[in-house]
Amino acid sequence: MRKPIIAGNWKMHKTATASEAFARDLCDNITGAAVDVVICPNFTALLPVGIAIKETPIKLGAQNMHWEEQGAFTGEISPAMLQDSGCDYVIVGHSERRQYFAETDEAVNKKVKAALAHNLTPIVCVGEMLAQREAGQTQTIVGAQVRGGLAGLSAEAVASLVIAYEPVWAIGTGRTASAVDAQEVCRFIRDTVAALVGQGSADCVRIQYGGSVKADNIDELMAQPDIDGALVGGASLDTKTFARIVNFQ
Ligand code: PGA
Repeated sequence: MRKPIIAGNWKMHKTATASEAFARDLCDNITGAAVDVVICPNFTALLPVGIAIKETPIKLGAQNMHWEEQGAFTGEISPAMLQDSGCDYVIVGHSERRQYFAETDEAVNKKVKAALAHNLTPIVCVGEMLAQREAGQTQTIVGAQVRGGLAGLSAEAVASLVIAYEPVWAIGTGRTASAVDAQEVCRFIRDTVAALVGQGSADCVRIQYGGSVKADNIDELMAQPDIDGALVGGASLDTKTFARIVNFQ
């Protein structure tokens, strides 16, 4: 049985001060969630948010990192720095990183390996653009991203990570993929993982759906057999809404 995992990606919102206050409010609203809950504030907010959630079941995640250990990489953050800041998770290969910061599958793969080497669980994002979906290329694109991002990993490593299927056309647009469409691609991702490292890992790996997840569509998404959670952007910035999403059913 795969334990569901719901993560909030706060993106470039909220100062460290506002993030800390928001995290404390969240803790009061999320009690006894039956799922793994992760919140991913910006880098400057990691430490205060980590302290705010310390005695709670909520886990801390970062939104990005570099794969190098240390060195002359101005503006970058290393896996060890994230770990030292209290992170257990890190989002890797988000479509905004791929689109605006030219992140490739090769870079995603290096980040995934570096994260695992530092006991950080990567949330590996994949997803097609609207034109690619309309051209019938969803499986080609998503399959290549999964194979590229997970290349060279052991079956055990793949089983331990999280994959987020986020169709780019559904992110921040209010246009959610239908539960059936989301399920179809998540199933395809699981089959791709099975072909890559075996059915045992494919049965263990948790696959989230992301893209305009809200309080009123979470139940239907979570009812799908291959959707094990959600990566939530906009709706994670409101305490009550995120609490409702986390306490789905
Ligand atoms: P959204 O973002 O929920 O605002 O669509 C999801 C994401 O980018 O992870």
